[in-house]
Amino acid sequence: MNILFMGPPGAGKGTQAERIVDTFGVPHISTGDAFRLAMKQGTPLGLKAKEYVDQGLLVPDEITNGIVKERLEQEDCNKGFLLDGFPRTLQQAEALDGMLKELGRSIDHVINLKVDRSLLLARLTGRRICKSCGSTYHVLFNPPKQEGVCDKCGGELYQRSDDTEEKVGTRLDEYISKTAPLLNYYSEKGLLREVDGEKEIDTVTADIESYLRGSL
Ligand SMILES: [Zn+2]
Repeated sequence: MNILFMGPPGAGKGTQAERIVDTFGVPHISTGDAFRLAMKQGTPLGLKAKEYVDQGLLVPDEITNGIVKERLEQEDCNKGFLLDGFPRTLQQAEALDGMLKELGRSIDHVINLKVDRSLLLARLTGRRICKSCGSTYHVLFNPPKQEGVCDKCGGELYQRSDDTEEKVGTRLDEYISKTAPLLNYYSEKGLLREVDGEKEIDTVTADIESYLRGSL
C-alpha cells in the first residue's frame, strides 16, 4: 500500500498519519525525517543538502528528490509506505512518479484532509505560552483556568508572533496556492481521496481506513 498524505497545517495530518502507519504496518516517511537521516549518515546527497541547509537556503529539487528516492529504496518500504510532506509541487509529483516507475511501483491513494480555512485559523492561532515556565495552552482545546494566566505558575500567557492570524493566514494561503495544482494532478489520475478532517479524530481515522481498504 503506497499512500500519499496531504493536508494544510492544522488539519491533524501528523496524528492521522501515525494511526494509519500503525494499522497498516508501513513506514511513515516525512521529508524532514528523511533529510535528517541522510545528513546524519553523511550520504553524498545528505552532505549536499546540509550545505544548503547550513546556509539557510532552500534545498534544490534534484537533491530532495534523490533523498526521497533513497528512502523509498530501503527494505522497510517493500510492503508500502506513507509519504508525508512530499511532493509539494507539481514538478516533485512528476519526479515521484518517475522514481516509483523505476522501482516498479505506483501511488495507490492520495489522502487529502480537508478542513475549512476558518477552523484552521482558530486551531493555529489559539496557542498560548507561559512567559515564566514555557507551559503551552490552547484557548479552545486546552484553556487555562483563568484567561491569560498559567495554571502551573501564575505567569502571563502570550501568543508567539508566528501564531498570529496574519502570519498563519499567509502560511495557509501559500499552502493552498501551492498544492491546488497537485490536488488537480492526482484527481485527474483518479487517486485523490478527499476526507473531511473536521469530524471527530476517530471518525476521520475510520474514514481514511475505509478508503485504504477500498470500501468507500
Ligand atoms: Zn507558567
